Amino acid sequence: MQTNLAAFIRDTPEGREADAILRACVHCGFCTATCPTYQLLGDELDGPRGRIYLIKEVLEGKRATERTQLHLDRCLTCRSCETTCPSGVQYGRLVDIGRAVVERQVPRSPSERATRYALSKGLRSRTLFGTALLFGRAARGVLPTALARKVPQAQRAGPWPPPRHARRVIVTLGCVQPTLAPSIDAALARVLDRVGISADGIAGGGCCGALPYHLNEQEEGLALARRNLDAWWPAIERGAEAIVTTSSGCGVMVKDYGHLLAHDPAYAKKAARAAALARDPVELIGDEWKRIAAKVAMDRGSQRIAFHPPCTLQHGMKLKGRVEEILRAIGHELVPVADAHLCCGSAGTYSILQPALAEELKRRKLAALQAERPALIVSSNIGCQMHLAGGTSRPVRHWLEVLDDKMLS
Ligand code: SF4
Ligand code: SF4
Repeated sequence: MQTNLAAFIRDTPEGREADAILRACVHCGFCTATCPTYQLLGDELDGPRGRIYLIKEVLEGKRATERTQLHLDRCLTCRSCETTCPSGVQYGRLVDIGRAVVERQVPRSPSERATRYALSKGLRSRTLFGTALLFGRAARGVLPTALARKVPQAQRAGPWPPPRHARRVIVTLGCVQPTLAPSIDAALARVLDRVGISADGIAGGGCCGALPYHLNEQEEGLALARRNLDAWWPAIERGAEAIVTTSSGCGVMVKDYGHLLAHDPAYAKKAARAAALARDPVELIGDEWKRIAAKVAMDRGSQRIAFHPPCTLQHGMKLKGRVEEILRAIGHELVPVADAHLCCGSAGTYSILQPALAEELKRRKLAALQAERPALIVSSNIGCQMHLAGGTSRPVRHWLEVLDDKMLS
């Protein structure tokens, strides 16, 4: 595609990156067929090709309108289009750049601004989020069923083994997950401890930055990335082998730190090093698989499982099929799930900002996941888990908890 970017962005790092991405797009439209919002709305401008065209216009100098913003807001950033695209168009980066420009040109209403501010600040403050969750749990009995299901039960984390091995990995603690589901990181720590690796949950780290970054507060997101790098750096220098993130939505962000901070002279090297060390648990556990498999009780509690691969795992990190292999290898039966490439509608804060679209995507996803009547739904991202759990009475768990349950002590 030919481009002629406007002077305001042409010679900036974002402008050069966007220009290269736009030029890679041949406008073939293959991506449209696998876009969840195009499937729901049937409007070209609610599919990747139309959004690319909108972003191109804005970067070429046409003023964005509320319609432009709406079509970009409706995008889930699921990156299903990237997986489909035969030309390797990095749509996810392009939409981040386009949204930031549109945000500066189209003011939001006071209520939208307030909602976004509350999400950005409230979800990443463990104190605020923890307090809200306590109130929600206390009021569950008087809430409507649909709302009560959105409030998860309190969970016991179980023991986190003390650091006793020479081999160490950093476990990123994130923002909402330690409050909502502390058992996930603890399960990873127990699995790794059994094969001689200690998991270090570093105090001082927190939100990976994805939450504000994808709410168009890019500078705030990068500030959180820098804070994490400062918190993790001593452990990296002491020889941590990997930076592991149990929520794939956060993991994909950490893997992107090197790219996002490439133009920051103070942090570029640290960010590149951290990104090189960033691993999803399925990669680390895959590497250690022979030793882990030797400690699995194959005959213990096998179940029929429907696995939901989060978009950040399958499209963002390109790790499709890996968790399913492990679940099968430890004796579970995986039921077939139609349209596994499609987003469940969680997508960070999307389920709150675009509730109608998110609810319909959840309804379709749960119909596909439950068609074969599995005993359990399993995923690898806390956002997807909570979103799906809000629409079903079946248990929804993280695959690391399922693996931990199967291992001999
Ligand atoms: S993003 Fe890829 S698949 Fe979609 S129109 Fe462009 S080249 Fe075609
Ligand atoms: S990221 Fe997802 S929702 Fe957005 S255009 Fe691509 S496929 Fe559609």
